[in-house]
Amino acid sequence: MGTRENVSRYDVIVVGGGNAAFCAALAAEENGARVLVLERAPEEEAGGNSRFTAGGFRCVYGGVEDLRKIIPDLSPQEIENTDFGTYTEEQFFDDMARVTQHRADPDLVEVLVRRSLDTMVWLRSKGIGFVPIYGRQAFKTPSGKFRFWGGLTVEARGGGPGLVAALTAAARARGIVVRYGHRATALLMQNGRIAGVRVRAGGAEEEVPARAVVLAAGGFEANSEWRTRYLGPGWELAKVRGTRFNTGDGIRMALEAGAMPWGHWSGCHAVGWERNAPDFGDLAVGDQFQKHSYPFGILVNARGERFVDEGADFRNYTYAKYGRIILEQPGQFAWQVFDAKVKHLLRDEYRIRQVTKASASTLEELALKLTDVDPEGFLKTVRAFNGAVRRDVPFDPTIKDGRGTVGIAPPKSNWANPLDTPPFEAYAVTCGITFTFGGVKVTTSAQVVDSDGGPMPGLYAAGEMVGGLFYFNYPGGTGLMSGAVFGRLAGASAAAEART
Ligand SMILES: Cc1cc2nc3c(=O)[nH]c(=O)nc-3n(C[C@H](O)[C@H](O)[C@H](O)COP(=O)(O)OP(=O)(O)OC[C@H]3O[C@@H](n4cnc5c(N)ncnc54)[C@H](O)[C@@H]3O)c2cc1C
Repeated sequence: MGTRENVSRYDVIVVGGGNAAFCAALAAEENGARVLVLERAPEEEAGGNSRFTAGGFRCVYGGVEDLRKIIPDLSPQEIENTDFGTYTEEQFFDDMARVTQHRADPDLVEVLVRRSLDTMVWLRSKGIGFVPIYGRQAFKTPSGKFRFWGGLTVEARGGGPGLVAALTAAARARGIVVRYGHRATALLMQNGRIAGVRVRAGGAEEEVPARAVVLAAGGFEANSEWRTRYLGPGWELAKVRGTRFNTGDGIRMALEAGAMPWGHWSGCHAVGWERNAPDFGDLAVGDQFQKHSYPFGILVNARGERFVDEGADFRNYTYAKYGRIILEQPGQFAWQVFDAKVKHLLRDEYRIRQVTKASASTLEELALKLTDVDPEGFLKTVRAFNGAVRRDVPFDPTIKDGRGTVGIAPPKSNWANPLDTPPFEAYAVTCGITFTFGGVKVTTSAQVVDSDGGPMPGLYAAGEMVGGLFYFNYPGGTGLMSGAVFGRLAGASAAAEART
């Protein structure tokens, strides 16, 4: 055991180096605390999953006036040429309730929804820049205007890397100490309260005392043994989309100190992800291994069969649950197939070099190029699908157009087009896990609750490791928003407790 630091040095220790951790650190500092951030990753790999994101934040806004509070430099041309719509508190509540099958903790959801806009304005005040997500969340309508369609309108300038860089700069400018390569291993307890953390760095261990601790150390998605244990057999085979450092340390430390496990422990966010992607995320590629334009094509498995309603809803409301369904297919893979009619709708991530892609000018030729797929099964599926499309309903990607299929299972409920226009393109995907849903229980002030139901003095948590918000599925852009809202609350609450 190494040295014990000068007892009076820090009021609040924040464990983690992503969005939730920095929001906690900034809020604690703003409330008068001396703050230390401990990030397990070395600086080159720091920033957690937050750094791998596109930086999309799902927040309530009543129209352009609210967006201008977050993006003051929105130009008159942008306003003129864009239908931003609105995203009301009611819509956010409805989306959270619907996609989580009404399991999400209503008290936590209430905080998330009602504090979302105000927290975005707060982030802006700390120097975090935002821009509209034209590329991925808006389509051009026939009138030439861009229309946002999925309640997700704002992203951090520079995406995830820009977000983490701006948060880190904001923290440093305010005197917050950030130590990289420092892995918290246990919580210190004194007289029934959390009194600091044990840290390992460069092979040495030390104890760092503090009056309160905020845990924002992510979920257990990068721990293949925990994945298999809690998500189920087969999950060790998933690719990890983001950081290799989220192995459940924060959750383990909290549980060892007596915290209550909470939320959907066998659930996670998982998507269709490049079949030959590396086992963990690659910061040079970021989120571009994902393949999220499946609502405009079909998905087939090794038997050449469709297995999911690709057009059940907008991408933002299905993508996070479809990774699991791909994992359940034989060989844990699928091919997404498109024809030339929709090529212009494919997202930017389809145009990177690191894709497993097949192209052909006939379906028969394509069938032979779909590695590991039964060609006859595939051709049979396409014939049945093409014959089932409701051609009397017009195709419109900006709304749920109801252009579905009739008489096939599974159906495709929207955006169904026959695959009949060459060249055809197909992309191979497997399951990429984003983050796990299970974690610890917190109060609406982000204080961790013990297994008897009481608040744990000196212990707060935020971000992925909070349980109770997401079950089965997740509305795109909510992870960063939840990390910011609960991180900010955790930091402010921890600073207030440290003052007492
Ligand atoms: C590819 C990808 C794209 C995504 N896109 C979006 C998006 O556009 N919008 C959105 O809302 N969400 C997105 N998400 C989800 C989002 O990344 C998370 O919901 C969010 O970043 C979680 O923030 P966090 O601070 O809780 O965790 P993280 O950002 O993962 O931070 C956890 C931190 O804890 C550190 N840590 C772990 N253990 C220890 C320890 N023992 N001691 C010290 N530090 C430790 C890690 O190194 C890491 O820095 C995406 C995720 C991925 C992987």
